[in-house]
Amino acid sequence: MFFAAGMIGLMTTLQQPVWGAEGGAKGSVDFDHPLVPVVRRVITGESGKQPSWKLPMVLNGLRKRPITAICTTYCEKCSDGGGRGTRWGTRLRRGIVAADPRYWGPGSVIYIGPPVDEVLIVEDTGGAVKGANRFDVCVTGHHALCTRWGKFKATYVPLHRTQPRRRWGRRPAGWHPPQWDLTTELVRFAAQRVPSVRSILMTLLAEAPGDLRAG
Ligand SMILES: [Zn+2]
Repeated sequence: MFFAAGMIGLMTTLQQPVWGAEGGAKGSVDFDHPLVPVVRRVITGESGKQPSWKLPMVLNGLRKRPITAICTTYCEKCSDGGGRGTRWGTRLRRGIVAADPRYWGPGSVIYIGPPVDEVLIVEDTGGAVKGANRFDVCVTGHHALCTRWGKFKATYVPLHRTQPRRRWGRRPAGWHPPQWDLTTELVRFAAQRVPSVRSILMTLLAEAPGDLRAG
């Protein structure tokens, strides 16, 4: 589903002259943004299994400045109170992260760089998770990581920030992060900033089946 829909979105944007004179490499900085490998992974990975919000969100993240965070990991064995549930009423699992509710609302999305290297949704909080740049990454089933990694520094990129609030309630059924369109402006921005993203998009376009092109 995502593949078809995403491809049609790309077709629409690439049919327009988005790679104008200003889109070339002339004078461009070799911008080593930590999200570049993530964009590549989302595009070349199993697209059918990618949530549809992911590609626009990581492309948009190329605008955001990477920040240094202090991180820890936790799992079902060492979570506060030993529970299996999160502050947002969901179950502990890979792909979520605990953050300070004074700075991060539920449903915020961040990318945390190596050694975590994942796009994560803020669904939990924790007594020891205090500060805007402090995260506790959920690694259920891998308690060994909690002790092996301990407290570590990692680069993170804020991808989507929701309003901080005291009461989190329960996550609404069917909730997912916002779906943004792959606008021409967004693709142009990505191509200017990251030439490798342009080549990925062009390769994808060249390999698209005819029926998708027609879209
Ligand atoms: Zn653990």
